[in-house]
Amino acid sequence: MDTQHHDKHRFQCRCGQVTGELADTRSALHAVCYCRDCQAYAHHLGQAGSVLGALAGTEVVGTHARNVSFTGGTDQLACVSLTGKGLLRWYARCCNTPLANTGRDWRMPYVGLVHSCLRPLGSEPLGPPAFQPVQMHLETAGARGGKPPALGGWRQARALLGFMPRIAASRLTGSYRRTPFFDGAGVPVATVQVLAPAEHAHAVAAVEAAA
Ligand SMILES: [Zn+2]
Ligand SMILES: [Zn+2]
Repeated sequence: MDTQHHDKHRFQCRCGQVTGELADTRSALHAVCYCRDCQAYAHHLGQAGSVLGALAGTEVVGTHARNVSFTGGTDQLACVSLTGKGLLRWYARCCNTPLANTGRDWRMPYVGLVHSCLRPLGSEPLGPPAFQPVQMHLETAGARGGKPPALGGWRQARALLGFMPRIAASRLTGSYRRTPFFDGAGVPVATVQVLAPAEHAHAVAAVEAAA
């Protein structure tokens, strides 16, 4: 079966220095994450106003790392982690635009591209034709000021069933090696800055203050 799709979507940081492409947009998983860590991260970058939605959710487009490529500005690529065990959160240091979240282990090549780099003009909707409508709401207990709209359990399950096997299979096929976020030895291509306890506390306090 030919599962190769050639639909591509350009992404870039707000100032335009960091540019890239997301391939195979039809297989992407469109989700909104309401977890406190995503909120703290947006506050840490000073981008809460532009990154967090009405219920403090962060819209992400999940994909396999091999579908992500940078076309410019990788010298501006920076990486932060809220804690020593947290996700790697990649952003453009030129303008503090969140770009993507990845795991720490490159053998699990899930990449969640943050919407702020997928629609740098800020206004156009992220839905069709570029991406599926939102398929999943994650960590909904962290939503602020209301509950996210309920999506059918089947719709979420179907989205995951189409998505996760490809990620899991990459351990066997070695396709996780095709990633712009890790070098050939599995080391992150930018130095991971783990927040100091005081920085972390500051970001968490900003989340609480925004309630
Ligand atoms: Zn920039
Ligand atoms: Zn999150």
